[in-house]
Amino acid sequence: MTEADDRPMPPTAPRQRVIGMLGGMSWESTAEYYRLANEGVRARLGGLHSARIVLASLDFAEIEALQVAGEWDRAGDVLAAAAARLEAAGAELLVLCTNTMHKVADRVQAAAGIPLLHLADTTAAAAGAAGVTTVGLLATAFTMEQDFYRDRLAGHGLRVLVPDADDRAAVHRVIYDELCRGVVREESRRLYRQVIERLVAAGAQGIVLGCTEIELLIGQADSPVPVFPTTRLHVEAALDASLQPGPLATTR
Ligand code: GLU
Repeated sequence: MTEADDRPMPPTAPRQRVIGMLGGMSWESTAEYYRLANEGVRARLGGLHSARIVLASLDFAEIEALQVAGEWDRAGDVLAAAAARLEAAGAELLVLCTNTMHKVADRVQAAAGIPLLHLADTTAAAAGAAGVTTVGLLATAFTMEQDFYRDRLAGHGLRVLVPDADDRAAVHRVIYDELCRGVVREESRRLYRQVIERLVAAGAQGIVLGCTEIELLIGQADSPVPVFPTTRLHVEAALDASLQPGPLATTR
């Protein structure tokens, strides 16, 4: 018998599933995912608990070049390979830390034997819980103009409004030229507020911050209707899944 055997047992905490974060798109928002996940675990479990995470952080310049070239299948292959690496590293669930790249979510899910928590599903669930049926969508041009994300939201019964062409171009430019480069400008915050006002005038009852960097620029104080910050919502959903007892129930 040694002295060490007399020490009190540490308090038991629920087992955390390892969250696989597929990020770097851009790293400005992936850093938020990492911080929010750890803050969330501290809030839920207390003490020195922190999130169990493996991270694959891609070079966003490579992905952005494929986006602009319309080479979505090649981009999907890069992400799918990273997802497989996350699984091999011990990840038990996957979060793809960008709304835009959910365009290739099926390819990513097909490459991994672990569930992908789809960002549009967590966002739609939050809007539904808030009683919102019509949302305005702020996002990259890819997400606002193509159907992969809007249709997924619509599949949950949401009506989705997007800004007009000039506003879409401005919102997109701020994401790629500023937020993904760590630049947060008051002028751009004012611009986003005006776009939100126009979406609300068109009937939006809530605003989806449908790009993971947008919440670096604006928050609830910038909108007269509820905002749905996709990074925060995604992290909360990941923590729910990580701490969920029993088998993982996820939507595919
Ligand atoms: N992080 C952004 C998003 O949520 C944009 C960057 C990207 O294209 O992945 O859509």
